[in-house]
Amino acid sequence: MSDTLLLLESFSCPAHHCEQHGQRGQGNLRVRKLYGAAQRRLLKCRSCGTEFSERKGTPLWNSRAPEDQLASAVEHLGAGNALKTTAKLTKLHRSTVRRLAILTGVHAHSLHAQHAQDLQLSALQADERSGFVERRGQQLWEATVIEPKSKFLVQSELGQRNEDLGRRLLF
Ligand SMILES: [Zn+2]
Repeated sequence: MSDTLLLLESFSCPAHHCEQHGQRGQGNLRVRKLYGAAQRRLLKCRSCGTEFSERKGTPLWNSRAPEDQLASAVEHLGAGNALKTTAKLTKLHRSTVRRLAILTGVHAHSLHAQHAQDLQLSALQADERSGFVERRGQQLWEATVIEPKSKFLVQSELGQRNEDLGRRLLF
């Protein structure tokens, strides 16, 4: 995960005063320099001059734990392990794992929203399943839409099982 070089089009200027704030693929960003042992890219916005790290806004930003440990935690979470189990296996604090789970989810959601567009799909299949989050009694439903042939996940929404969940899935 950490070695994936994201295209410049995946980033947008983080400066709120910038005319191109939050807009991707505007051609206003360039690589200013590489920094640190891991040779991260420092990006610069040509419109407003703001410089920012390519790590900013990703789940690993500002985390002090070693990257391997964090990447391993994301793997465990992805495999369906609980926060408690993941924390134990990776020797990370449970609050770190929780923060990572939330940030990774938000990040993955926005990456997916960015890439899953203008899809040519032959059919759609909706499904739902429920699970318990952290504490007993907090039941959450996951509703998904996939293309049956490729199993491509078109959309996934999490929430209480009600009308709102279905609506979010459809629009
Ligand atoms: Zn800018």
